[in-house]
Amino acid sequence: MNAPELGLPMAVPAEGLPARVRIHEVGARDGLQNEKATVPTAVKAEFVRRLAGTGLTTIEATSFVHPTWVPQLADAEDLYPAVSDLPVELPVLVPNERGLDRALALGVRRVAVFASATESFAKANLNRTVDEALAMFEPVVARAKARDVHVRGYLSMCFGDPWQGAVPVGQVVRVCRALLDMGCDELSLGDTIGVATPGHVTALLSALTGADVPVAALAVHFHDTYGQALSNTLAALQQGVATVDASAGGLGGCPYAKSATGNLATEDLVWMLQGLGIDTGVDLGRLVATSVWMAAHLGRPSPSRTVRALSHQES
Ligand code: MG
Repeated sequence: MNAPELGLPMAVPAEGLPARVRIHEVGARDGLQNEKATVPTAVKAEFVRRLAGTGLTTIEATSFVHPTWVPQLADAEDLYPAVSDLPVELPVLVPNERGLDRALALGVRRVAVFASATESFAKANLNRTVDEALAMFEPVVARAKARDVHVRGYLSMCFGDPWQGAVPVGQVVRVCRALLDMGCDELSLGDTIGVATPGHVTALLSALTGADVPVAALAVHFHDTYGQALSNTLAALQQGVATVDASAGGLGGCPYAKSATGNLATEDLVWMLQGLGIDTGVDLGRLVATSVWMAAHLGRPSPSRTVRALSHQES
């Protein structure tokens, strides 16, 4: 692998944006869960270690979902202990109480549950109604909080749904309130099929803050299916959001969208944030090198524009 020729954007700050953004890195979980290839545990552990070495402070490590549902992450019990010494936050996904038990047994300090804003996705993904899914998460959240474990609530399909189409803002607000009221510390608003545009982002965030949802509890999770992820991120930053989900190298397509383009690439995000003079603590050159290394293991080039621009990777 050639070392990337490191370029950085000129930092020109803009008004009204947070001074610092915390990146919630999802490549090892959301990314690898949606890749066709199953990566060996040792490679995943090395990936998480390299990500931690770039300065990322929150690295979602794996999922304690039943192994038959997500065979790519069936090694959670082996992976977590292999990385738990790292001096970073290592949240894991827990789909239900059984998953929580498995995570707690390994000393996990941060968990995430995965809710849906729409009935059709709740039915497709969890075979439950939205309210039945919330009822399933209630004991998970309560038991995690009783152990002082941080809980993130993912909310998918916040901007559009492949079956339902448009998703009313009020519907998203209702589920967000329910997750916060049950004890979630943080909510990640997911644009699972990548259809959001900046005005929609602004409208949803305004409605949420109008419903007494603190902006400090919000993260955004954009997909770049239609090339809107960074525009949407900027709109969210302008509303005061300071936690942004991204996936190193743009790992992970979306199984519910036709396009292979999925998660916002962390490198593309870091490029924009550095250009805005916003502190992320991330070394972009190291991050690009990590994604080039991972792409070689997956046997396909990274879809990230910034990885391509800063590396000699063939596309
Ligand atoms: Mg995603």
